[in-house]
Amino acid sequence: MSPEEFRAAAHQTVDWIADYLRDIRDYPVLANVEPGAVTSRLPKSGPERGESIDAILEDFRKLIVPGVTHWNHPRFFGYFSVSGSGPGILGEMLAAALNTNHMVWKTGPSATELEQVSLGWLRQWLGLPEEFFGIIHDTASTSTLHAVIAAREAAREAAGGPSADLVLYTSEHAHLSVDRAALVVGIGRGNIRHILIDDDFRMRPEALDAAIAADLAAGRKPFCVIPTLGTTSSSSLDPLPEIAAIAQRYGLWLHVDAAYAGPAAVLDEYRHILKGAELADSLVVNPHKWLFTPIDLSALYTRRPEVFRRALSLDQAPAYLQTAENGGAVNFSDYSIALGRRFRALKLWFVLRYYGREGIAEILRGHLRMAREFAASVQADPRFELAAPVLFSLLCFRMHGSNDDNRELLDRVNSTGRAFLSGTQLRGKFVLRLAIGNIATTDADVQETWDLISSSAPQRRRPDGAPES
Ligand SMILES: *Cc1c(COP(=O)(O)O)cnc(C)c1O
Repeated sequence: MSPEEFRAAAHQTVDWIADYLRDIRDYPVLANVEPGAVTSRLPKSGPERGESIDAILEDFRKLIVPGVTHWNHPRFFGYFSVSGSGPGILGEMLAAALNTNHMVWKTGPSATELEQVSLGWLRQWLGLPEEFFGIIHDTASTSTLHAVIAAREAAREAAGGPSADLVLYTSEHAHLSVDRAALVVGIGRGNIRHILIDDDFRMRPEALDAAIAADLAAGRKPFCVIPTLGTTSSSSLDPLPEIAAIAQRYGLWLHVDAAYAGPAAVLDEYRHILKGAELADSLVVNPHKWLFTPIDLSALYTRRPEVFRRALSLDQAPAYLQTAENGGAVNFSDYSIALGRRFRALKLWFVLRYYGREGIAEILRGHLRMAREFAASVQADPRFELAAPVLFSLLCFRMHGSNDDNRELLDRVNSTGRAFLSGTQLRGKFVLRLAIGNIATTDADVQETWDLISSSAPQRRRPDGAPES
């Protein structure tokens, strides 16, 4: 592709992106396609002869876009909503153009140092200790996997050799990535403890303490505890100060999963959620969730980077990776399973600079306010109830009535294409989840979504609570 052909095609592409971002509310949030529909419209084999960018872009619009679920839609409220913000998209474009791979400092001095600098800024904004070392991974799942690898290494070093029967502790409401990380490092399913939660879905510290004591008495080796700040189902907060004290008492690695809620600590009034995190061995927060950075970008912080390095280092670096001493510069591949690394820090740096701490705080406060207002609408409607405390921008609520009534309501709302919510189970009951977090979401979007839900729900109830048709 000649530079001039590239320039023309890039202008077209950027025009499409700008129109997309402007007109995004005209798209159905949820792709209205059956499984296989996209495949059936594409050729069975790749083209023998190259095609023009015009033809490819045209098929992108005609065949690909209709099968897209628009995570970037301001009324995408499912799971945890995300934002491909303007500055983030620009950073991503430039990273693709540079196409660097900073596996060692020498192969990407700017990428290596910008990763340290931008994660350092974010660390300060979150109020985390200065000695925390940051590294970028693709996802929180990968970040947590690395934390568990380091935790196992720390246990091995403390025991003077590999230990059988290591036990990992987390809560019933932990994200599945915690269990996966444990399985990948060889902790058997029987050695993953899902500690009971209290009425507000928080890990019970006394149950954690009792479980550790019981495992020790049985000769097993407790090695790691993973509390969550902002659980996936209900955004509950495990009591970090108490759990950190227990981790210290028993010498366990403390990894904090703050993938979704962590950014709230940028706000002075939410700083307290990270109380106890200063004692953590590692912590994960996802700028690709509630910090307006395009997928993928997860930040893993640790006070013990050397443990990660020892866990992943070989006795001798292979000859093709040996570099002359580079004056103490960091080689990020020493701390991760992957050797190659995308220049992800660029998009984070664009986002942090473009909005600034105050700008980010203002957007987060807006989301938190919209969530409180939505909660007030739910509470003011006798047909509905909140199903969990609203701590951040995630709402769990349900209609009085059966689980099937609520599932039907969710399907009715989502099938309109005007908004997308997801569901979960809390105390055995099916509840709707509405997560506010997209940078373009406005009060009008949230109001429209409440109106949609409210008008999709049966209007009147019989005295026994069953819907009247
Ligand atoms: C989203 C989420 C994860 C997983 O994040 P990925 O980046 O998709 O792997 C883990 N933990 C919590 C608490 C989350 O909210």
